[in-house]
Amino acid sequence: MNVDGSSAITLPGGDRAPLCFTVDGRLLAATTEGSAVVIWDVEEQRRLDVVPVSGPVSVLAVTDRGDIAAVADGQVVLLAHRSPGDDPQPGPDDVEQPPEPAADQTRPFQDFQRIMDGFLGGSLGEGPRPRVRPGADAILRLELDLQESAFGVEAPIEFDTAVVCAACAGAGTAPDTHPDDCPACAGRGEVRMSEGAGVAPRTCAYCQGQGILIPNPCVTCEGDGRVSTRRALTVKIPAGVEDGMRIRLAQQGEVGPGGGPPGDLYVEIHERPHNVFTRKNDDLHCRVTVPMAAAALGTQPTIQTLDGEVTFDVHPGEQSGATVRIAGKGVPHLHRSGRGDLIAHLGIPTPKFLTAYERLTLMEFATHRAENAAVAPSSYTEHDLDVHVVVSVPMALAALGTSFVRQEPRQW
Ligand SMILES: [Zn+2]
Ligand SMILES: [Zn+2]
Repeated sequence: MNVDGSSAITLPGGDRAPLCFTVDGRLLAATTEGSAVVIWDVEEQRRLDVVPVSGPVSVLAVTDRGDIAAVADGQVVLLAHRSPGDDPQPGPDDVEQPPEPAADQTRPFQDFQRIMDGFLGGSLGEGPRPRVRPGADAILRLELDLQESAFGVEAPIEFDTAVVCAACAGAGTAPDTHPDDCPACAGRGEVRMSEGAGVAPRTCAYCQGQGILIPNPCVTCEGDGRVSTRRALTVKIPAGVEDGMRIRLAQQGEVGPGGGPPGDLYVEIHERPHNVFTRKNDDLHCRVTVPMAAAALGTQPTIQTLDGEVTFDVHPGEQSGATVRIAGKGVPHLHRSGRGDLIAHLGIPTPKFLTAYERLTLMEFATHRAENAAVAPSSYTEHDLDVHVVVSVPMALAALGTSFVRQEPRQW
């Protein structure tokens, strides 16, 4: 015995077995003898089983699980090995048997069922499965700037997809040829199995249930009716889209097998972070720095928004960290009128460097307000052995620099 490639085995007596397969770890082979399929135990080099079929065997096929099927007299018959010693010839008693098999026959029946299910993907009984089927949906990631997602954009996209084969217009056939009815199922797409306890329609394995075979496939698409390609489109992105949203482009997905109707293309929005504005829903947040004296006196800063400038009020005495809401300067609402707001977070820094004149002026200011260095902590908290205190320092003193008198915590 020798193994030639992966599927041809020479058996005792010099017969070439066209197929080998494995059941429960045992390497088996199959040959045909007239209207019977002979199953060999390759290890022990002996006949394991002889399975009579309804006519001469024209095709022996191996499934992707390594099991075998035969086409005999236009019918696909699936073959499982039986336990050695089982009678391969079904007698009258077998036909009349109740559906529950006897204990010693359970295992071969389960093997057979398992092989059939693996090969066929279950029973259908619904006629031929169409060769032309709908295409799959596709998803594409699109990165947008905040400006683009806020106000909408016409974005060019490119993506890999499948389109109808131009050479055969989706038919899958070479020019001037046509599909044939499948000889195994006579175009029905399913075969009636009479093996085992019952009779059930099963998907024809020879034509994958399509009922037709393409003897001369189109050379461009190899019979699939569609070809891979790269497409370019311009997508109209509406104003107000948000990170993570998907825009459905109906029927712009890939074409289905046999040139079937295309699926949908979904464009998923990914918004790039903006260096000034942070988006929360349709509101925008930004940080605005107001000089110390201007915050004390009140001011009207002008800032750049997503679309043009806006001037807003900072009332006298505004504190650092306060927010000012500027209505209608955020992101336009998606599919409805109106816009979100722009929220300015005020930062009021203490001047770091002072000229001599500024320093004198601030000292005069501090003196005028009777500000002095003896400021008291307003609260304290303990963290383990450390004590944290909150100290308010007047504006001018903060700019000039100051120190405060430390008091013992027990006095508070
Ligand atoms: Zn084609
Ligand atoms: Zn068929």
